Amino acid sequence: HFKGQSDIAISRSCVPKPIDRLAREVGLLSDEVELYGKTKAKVQLNIIKRLQAQPDGKYVVVTGITPTPLGEGKSTTTIGLVQALGAHMKLNVFACVRQPSQGPTFGIKGGAAGGGYSQVIPMEEFNLHLTGDIHAITAANNLVAAAIDARMFHEATQSDKALYNRLVPLSGGQRTFSPIQINRLKKLGIEKTDPSTLTEEEITRFARLDIEPSSVTWQRVLDTNDRFLRKITIGQSPTEKGHTREAQFDITVASEIMAVLALTSSLEDMRQRLAKMVVATSRSGEPITTEDLGVSGALTVLMRDAIKPNLMQTLEGNPVFVHAGPFANIAHGNSSILADKIALKLVGPEGFVVTEAGFGADIGMEKFFNIKCRYSGLRPHVVVLVATVRALKMHGGGPTVTAGMPLPKEYIEENLELLEKGCSNMRKQIENAQHFGVPVVVAVNGFKTDTEAELDLVCSMAKAAGAFDAVRCSHWAEGGAGAVALGQAVQRASEAPSNFKFLYDLELPIADKIRIIGQKIYGADDIELLPEAQRKVELYTKQGFGNLPICMAKTHLSLSHEADKKGVPTGFVLPIRDIRASVGSGFLFPLVGTMPTIPGLPTRPCFYDIDLDPETEQVNGLF
Ligand code: ADP
Repeated sequence: HFKGQSDIAISRSCVPKPIDRLAREVGLLSDEVELYGKTKAKVQLNIIKRLQAQPDGKYVVVTGITPTPLGEGKSTTTIGLVQALGAHMKLNVFACVRQPSQGPTFGIKGGAAGGGYSQVIPMEEFNLHLTGDIHAITAANNLVAAAIDARMFHEATQSDKALYNRLVPLSGGQRTFSPIQINRLKKLGIEKTDPSTLTEEEITRFARLDIEPSSVTWQRVLDTNDRFLRKITIGQSPTEKGHTREAQFDITVASEIMAVLALTSSLEDMRQRLAKMVVATSRSGEPITTEDLGVSGALTVLMRDAIKPNLMQTLEGNPVFVHAGPFANIAHGNSSILADKIALKLVGPEGFVVTEAGFGADIGMEKFFNIKCRYSGLRPHVVVLVATVRALKMHGGGPTVTAGMPLPKEYIEENLELLEKGCSNMRKQIENAQHFGVPVVVAVNGFKTDTEAELDLVCSMAKAAGAFDAVRCSHWAEGGAGAVALGQAVQRASEAPSNFKFLYDLELPIADKIRIIGQKIYGADDIELLPEAQRKVELYTKQGFGNLPICMAKTHLSLSHEADKKGVPTGFVLPIRDIRASVGSGFLFPLVGTMPTIPGLPTRPCFYDIDLDPETEQVNGLF
């Protein structure tokens, strides 16, 4: 029970069970598990084949109302609900969550292991490095970036023949193509495997990718909130002979390779996705892929361990898969399909898998349904929508909430008027979930400053808005015991009829798909495609990528594109500044307004409080 301890103190006060024991408890065989120390393990993908015939468990997605910058407790509720269903209701359970980015952990928001008595433990392992998957993505991504600029440099400084001779070197008096080069020849329509039979014209087409430098969409990445990398000039050393180019860094968790990891269904599928990522356009208008650069096999090698889900546990000893960590505002915001699929088999037909979709329902949940569920083929049984009194008061017109600053008095004292007004945001987010035909249970995540009347008001407003049920929870203060009512409501909702449907048809024109999301989910009057976005719509339609789902990059702090518009903004037109194509992960990525794709650090970042005690080797200050 709540003793005023910090999240890390609570995490540390619990001795985790050895991870190999947990693996056995959930039905994993010893040769399916790779141990990473005592508290983490990777699970091999061959388990999918072994459990093929096993029916899936119930699938629950946790989402939320539009949050304050502090977060409203979705991760905490995901873990609390799993603790309730598992440790208290004695059902088979799994939580499937994202691996946190180092950006927020050291920046503004802190870690993402949940909080209070509902956490993934050990939280320092969870929040820092884990088993190195994000580092692998950074390495793979930047290998592609290096390959692009090196290739453009070599092509600019060498003749066709010299390029060809280096790409297909003589060995023992003979030239041979590598398998990746044969793939490229096939793509060019040259059905030859013997280099000696290539004509001069074929040699030129093969050797020169002829990338248009201004068309490069692939960016370098780093998992740090380093705002000064938002715009850079590369190639400034004299060794690059004046081949400078303006470029930028994105945060690793917004990268296409992160999305590939999250959306892939097997090693073979990941290899194919990593091969078809489009990095630029040639001068003649053809998309240039990672396979054209010859780097796709090496990427698969770098990612071969990252593809295996990571097993950890909750404070109450329930299993958790931590796998993939795309941001929800500037990426698709959902943990991996592979982890969900394995977990659904492991829990069996009466069990529950609870996963979290990042930020509000307009952001992570919309992408969960329209992107993740489309690729996985999985159909969720229940949506849990997390609401807090504080965020609803903010939507009702309460003063700005800033991370690291004390909360204004409106949030500490009872104020039913602000709260009732702000419930409009919850109503809209319930409606957003209902577009997909899945029952919604509202979880009112109680804070110690909330009053009885406030908590009751949120529950009754949620039910009046059409939620299947609305329950108060106290799992942050009490662990799983505080979310049993939520667990029971979720169990009941999972038996209710669900009539799942997507929001839009993939075959619609790109602009129509964006408009449907803008109007139905955000409440916009219309969308406006700015010139660069319009140009991309034409390019991607011509290149054959028009039928991909849409992954909007929009602020999570408002239903609209303007972070300071709270409640349910109306009367706005959604500006689409640009669109990127993530062909390997399989979506188009419209940038709404000005969304930086690498966050910055505030004046007083979280790292001020983080340190290591050399005596005990304990990490302090993480939350
Ligand atoms: P989200 O996943 O929605 O971003 P988190 O679950 O990460 O939110 O919670 C954000 C922060 O709020 C965490 O530090 C967590 O410990 C804290 N928190 C969550 N629920 C409560 C609560 N009921 N009372 C106090 N603090 C809470």
